[in-house]
Amino acid sequence: MPSDQSKLPGLKRLIENKYRLTPQRKSVLLALANTRRNEHPSAEEIYLNAKEHCPQIGLATVYRTLELFMNLSIVQNMVLDDGCARYELKRDRTHYHLICLSCGKISETDGINFEPLLSVSPGFKVTSTVVQFFGYCEKCCERNSKLLEERKEENNAQR
Ligand SMILES: [Zn+2]
Ligand SMILES: [Zn+2]
Repeated sequence: MPSDQSKLPGLKRLIENKYRLTPQRKSVLLALANTRRNEHPSAEEIYLNAKEHCPQIGLATVYRTLELFMNLSIVQNMVLDDGCARYELKRDRTHYHLICLSCGKISETDGINFEPLLSVSPGFKVTSTVVQFFGYCEKCCERNSKLLEERKEENNAQR
């Protein structure tokens, strides 16, 4: 947890855009800063964490604050198939999300470069991209192959 305020992520952008650092905004920034890499909390999860820093904050305020932070490019979100939005602090380096269809785990990869693809359409100015990869995480792959193994053995035993 950043102890002094100048290290608070997004604070500079907030002030540059003439927004005050209210206790509510601070608590949401802290909640996001406390999020570990690869964790992508929902608004409710951010709310629960923000409440620890600012007990009077309400869920509606958290939604409004996240909306503001997205407009200021402090935060980015992604909406998954279940319709639930996850949030994270925007980082300098673009990264992409690998989403497990089985357990919902979201992991990250930043080793992909889409720049060459974009040069195919000169004259079109790209301001944002949405790229998500769906599949199965390592754990689920392992579990699935174990299940398949077991089923094979069962079938063999029945024969
Ligand atoms: Zn999984
Ligand atoms: Zn991410």
